[in-house]
Amino acid sequence: MIYFDNNATTPLAPEAAEAMRQVQDRFGNPSSVHRAGRETRRIVEECRERIAALIAAKPAEIHFTSGGTEAIHLALWGALFPPAERRHLVVTRVEHASTLRTAEYLEQVGIDVTYVDVDAAGTIDPERVAAAIRPETRMVAVMFANNEIGNVYPVKKIGELAQARGAGFFCDAVQVLGKMEIRLAHLPIGVLSAAAHKFHGPKGAGFLYVRETMKLNPVLRGGRQERGLRAGTENVAGIAGMTAALELAQSRLDRDFRKIRALRDRLQGGIGELFPEAVFHGDPEHRLDNTLNFRIPGVSGEALLLNLDLAGVAASVGSACDSGSLDPSHVLMAMGLSPEEALSGLRFSLSRYNTEAEVEEVLRILPEAVAKVRGGSAEALERKRESGEGKVSDGVRQTAAGRP
Ligand code: PLP
Repeated sequence: MIYFDNNATTPLAPEAAEAMRQVQDRFGNPSSVHRAGRETRRIVEECRERIAALIAAKPAEIHFTSGGTEAIHLALWGALFPPAERRHLVVTRVEHASTLRTAEYLEQVGIDVTYVDVDAAGTIDPERVAAAIRPETRMVAVMFANNEIGNVYPVKKIGELAQARGAGFFCDAVQVLGKMEIRLAHLPIGVLSAAAHKFHGPKGAGFLYVRETMKLNPVLRGGRQERGLRAGTENVAGIAGMTAALELAQSRLDRDFRKIRALRDRLQGGIGELFPEAVFHGDPEHRLDNTLNFRIPGVSGEALLLNLDLAGVAASVGSACDSGSLDPSHVLMAMGLSPEEALSGLRFSLSRYNTEAEVEEVLRILPEAVAKVRGGSAEALERKRESGEGKVSDGVRQTAAGRP
């Protein structure tokens, strides 16, 4: 299989697997006072120090979680619940489902939410975010980079503007850790989320950085783990794997991403040559080096994904199937695409384990896959027309699972 879906998740690095193997026999509960417990406590605290060093944070600012979604819930519920005087949240329309669904849930308990629009390239204007901030704004949530189109956002500027207006700044960096260097000591970010499985670490491990000066309420209550902010026995092997994966990613960041960018650019150039009508989505100037989101007008992204899958290529669509109806990507819709255009979106996302030969193979496979969709879609459309089916929902409702 050619795996070009690394923004959904990444293969585990052998080095991370080895770090997990080394600690898996240490079964003591890190909260126990006996020697077995002290041993795993030492592992967890060493990992906390190593992760803090990698992102220029303080160890006490790192709170381990089960992944990105939990970290995001803690950031937003922790800041806004129970509703207090400052009960306003600002988010952008292109955040991941885990932020958008949480914002909607918070609205149900009395939090005011402002949704900031993006332009046709999916870019976020810091001044537009600033204009949404009110005296009662508790938190501004803007992701560091977008998982679907790869846009990297001006979070330093946005953080400065939020800070100047007395609002907290939460940044979802799930797609950025391991792809770009982040030095929190030099960034005006109050809270930041990360997930290990996006940088060749294990699933089920992540963390929330919370700046010392930022006060959050716990969501999971119980034991006093993670400075009382996240109760529950720590995932020691997951934490060890995540730490090894992040260290590895950062130690080879420049080398890996020079290669990845060249592969992505070759892929984009090849697609442009094969399909001059192809439209590339996002901001080419400020984009993750590994991400390519595009559409071939009139070609269903879903159908193309299935045909590529049959040919052994894993990609991702800007749409997903929910109870039989196709929902277009909320990100592409926010950029002003029509539902039909958005349903043509396809994403390739690469990693350091991809090769030039794989890119050439995908460029070889793609024309046939597209031809099959074009042939198939005409027939399918006719069938649908005859049966009166085929209405596409025009809302921006996300699927139950959202898009990873
Ligand atoms: N935020 C972004 C930008 C993501 O891409 C994802 C995963 O797809 C998440 C949050 C959620 O992370 P997880 O699946 O680890 O809970």
